[in-house]
Amino acid sequence: MPVKTLEDLFIHSLSDVYSAEKQLTKALPKMARAASSEELKTLFTAHLEETQGQVERIDQVVEASGLKLKRIKCAAMEGLVEESQETIEEVEKGPVLDAGLIAAAQKVEHYEIATYGTLCALAKTLGMDKRIIELLQDTLAEEKGADQKLSALAAAQVNETAVAA
Ligand code: FE
Ligand code: FE
Ligand code: FE
Ligand code: ZN
Repeated sequence: MPVKTLEDLFIHSLSDVYSAEKQLTKALPKMARAASSEELKTLFTAHLEETQGQVERIDQVVEASGLKLKRIKCAAMEGLVEESQETIEEVEKGPVLDAGLIAAAQKVEHYEIATYGTLCALAKTLGMDKRIIELLQDTLAEEKGADQKLSALAAAQVNETAVAA
């Protein structure tokens, strides 16, 4: 079905991010295993749990809106996960890899922040239910939180350890 209306675009975007979140639930455990810093492992594991909740929120949006998701694969997340995997393979395990993992994870978060920001704006423009907008905003806030925690960890610990390595 071609995308014609703003509602079509909303469905397309929501289906895309559903695929993105699903892909991320498979990538985050690998990133946690590759990390050396306990704090970074904890951050990835915590965001894995959040990500599982985000998939459920999308299910709730679908239920509340009565819209039907399309089967699409998020090509951007596929690429971002691939780059993160390359980093794991190419960088020796330790503080430098940790810095690389944080960079890879922040690219993921920024992609998600852009996507949920758009979804919130589209939902508002389309006059969708307040409940739907809140679900999307909750996830947007979690993605921003994850990004900030990664920045804080990089600043507080990982980059300093990496430069001394
Ligand atoms: Fe997410
Ligand atoms: Fe995408
Ligand atoms: Fe790239
Ligand atoms: Zn995220």
